[in-house]
Amino acid sequence: MKKVVVALGGNAILQAGQAGTVEQQLANIDQAAGQIAAMIMAGYRVVITHGNGPQVGNILLQNEKASDLVPAMPLDVCGAQTQGQIGYLLQQSLTNILRQHGHLQPVVTVVTQVSIAADDPALKQPTKPIGPYFSAAQAQELAATQGYIMQEDKARGGWRRLVPSPTPLRIQEREAILNLLASGAVVIAAGGGGIPVVETERGLRGIEAVIDKDLASQRLAVDIGAEILLILTDVKAVAINWGSPGQEWLGEVHVAEARRYQAEGHFRAGSMGPKVEAACSFVEEGGEIAIITSLEAGSAALQGKAGTRFIL
Ligand code: ADP
Ligand code: MG
Repeated sequence: MKKVVVALGGNAILQAGQAGTVEQQLANIDQAAGQIAAMIMAGYRVVITHGNGPQVGNILLQNEKASDLVPAMPLDVCGAQTQGQIGYLLQQSLTNILRQHGHLQPVVTVVTQVSIAADDPALKQPTKPIGPYFSAAQAQELAATQGYIMQEDKARGGWRRLVPSPTPLRIQEREAILNLLASGAVVIAAGGGGIPVVETERGLRGIEAVIDKDLASQRLAVDIGAEILLILTDVKAVAINWGSPGQEWLGEVHVAEARRYQAEGHFRAGSMGPKVEAACSFVEEGGEIAIITSLEAGSAALQGKAGTRFIL
C-alpha cells in the first residue's frame, strides 16, 4: 500500500469570488473528498494537506474588528484555528463518503507544527501579504503600535500586512502521523503549510509567518516516507511558456529537465513556482514520483493518465 500526500489547493475549499460561507466551503470540500475517497478505496494510504489563505484572512479580519471586545490572537494561533476548522469539514465530509461505501476507517486531523530555522534569512524579509486590507492611516497605526510591516496593494486600493515565508525543516508531529497511518487512519496534517515554530532552549515557540503549503507538503511527504506527492490545483498540468503562444503542457518530465525550465523562469513565484520546486525536491530526496494536476484529474493522474509527472 503506497503512501500518498495529497496537497489540496485553495480552490478545493473556496473558489474565487465566493464569500466563504460554511455551505460554500462544504460543497467544495465534498467534491475534493469524493476524489480523495476514490484514492483511499483504490488502496492508497492518504495524508491530506491543504491551503488556508482565505480562511486565515477571514479570521484575522474577525480578530481585527472585535479587538476592542476580545483580545486578538497572533497569526500562529489563527493558523491553528484554520487547521481545526478546515480539518473538521474535511473529516466530516470524507468520513460520510467512506461510510456510504462501507469503509469505516477513522479520518483524523493533526494540528501540525513545522520547525523553521531561527536564523532563516526569510524572517528578516517579509514577502507574503495576508489578511484584511487597511487604509493608509490604519496601516501607519498598525506599523507604529504592532510593528507590522505594511505594503500598499495599488490594484486593490489598500494596505496589507506582510509576513515572512520561511523554509520548512521538520514536521514536529511526524511520529504521531506515522502511527495514525499505521493504525489505518486517514490523516489531515500541515494545513496552511503548518504552524511555523522555532526550537529554542526552552522548547517550541510559534512564529508569525506563513510556510508555503506546497513546500510544507513536500517536507511532510519526505519525512513520512511517502512514495507519491500529489499536488492538486486548478490547472490540469504544468506548462512551459505559460499563457503565451508557445504554451506546451508537460506530461512525464525528468527532474533535471524540470529544473532547466525552472531556471529559465517558466514557473511563476507564488503560484506554480513553489509547486514545481516541491515536486522536484521530493523526487530528488528519494520520493518515487510527484504529480501536479487538477482536483478532477487526481485519480486518473495516479494511474498515469493525467497531469505532469515528475520522475528522476
Ligand atoms: P493553489 O491555490 O492550488 O495552490 P495557485 O493559484 O497558487 O494554486 O497556482 C496555480 C496557478 O498557477 C494556476 O491556476 C495557473 O494560473 C498558474 N500558473 C503559473 N505558471 C504556470 C505554469 N507554468 N503552468 C501552469 N499553471 C501556471
Ligand atoms: Mg490559488
